[in-house]
Amino acid sequence: MRQQNEALMRAALEAAERGWYVFPLRPGDKRPALHGEASCTYTGDCASGHLKWEQRATRDPERIRTTWWHTPYNIGIATGPSNLLVVDLDMPKRKSSKGSSDAPSGAATFRALCERAGHPVPDTYRVRTASGGEHLYFKAPDGLRLNNTAGTIGELVDTRAWGGYVVAAGSITDTGTYEAVSGSVAAPLPEWLQTILKPAPVRSTGPLRLPAVDGSRVALSALEAECAVVSAAPDKQRNTTLNRCAFKVGRFVAWGDIPRHVVEEAFQGAGEERGLTAAECRATIRSALDSSIRKARPREAA
Ligand SMILES: [Zn+2]
Repeated sequence: MRQQNEALMRAALEAAERGWYVFPLRPGDKRPALHGEASCTYTGDCASGHLKWEQRATRDPERIRTTWWHTPYNIGIATGPSNLLVVDLDMPKRKSSKGSSDAPSGAATFRALCERAGHPVPDTYRVRTASGGEHLYFKAPDGLRLNNTAGTIGELVDTRAWGGYVVAAGSITDTGTYEAVSGSVAAPLPEWLQTILKPAPVRSTGPLRLPAVDGSRVALSALEAECAVVSAAPDKQRNTTLNRCAFKVGRFVAWGDIPRHVVEEAFQGAGEERGLTAAECRATIRSALDSSIRKARPREAA
């Protein structure tokens, strides 16, 4: 129906005007409409390799008009490229046909958390979802690459950032519509939320406070940087990333710039926080460091 196409196209253009990167979702659905890697024909956008929705999302009005012209696609916003961190407050699943579950909604959990933290519920661009949940849009902090989280903030409180998307206002599904309900702009992510979401802190309270020995500053900042890489590793590459990063820092251990146990503890923390088991982390870190120390060249040659 022409009218519906137009409304959805307008909503997509509006999101793009806000600076957000959009891509089509299947009509009436929340799943991406773009082809997956398995069915890629390696033409057009994919001519030099398959591109995922996160990479194909656009804010070019011409492309948006072309895409939405004939088909009433729902609208996905790729949160990463859009510089957004969206807090997704979900509704509890119904336990049975008899009544709703007595678990608190994500919104209630989030409100309680704000109260405990001594902050008001942030005033920002907010969308009511088709299921009665809420999306709170925030501007992601500069220089901090945040990924999706599930349950880190609280039960039924997820976040969408790099690697994620949200269904935009104006989209329609069987269960209802997505509707902007308040706030005209996405407010900056409050500091206290940022603290909760910040990836894998290098545990700096204890072992990382080292006496200032030659080279240790360089070693420490390398350690910190590599731990951050581990924290941001995609799910399927967690272990190989941990291995690669620990290997890189191993030479500083070989050179005596930093004690081995400091490196081990920092990577252990980053790896576990990224979702690897304690045993996986220990094994990977040990073998990476052993191999790196064995292969390390004298500093001059590095
Ligand atoms: Zn493709």
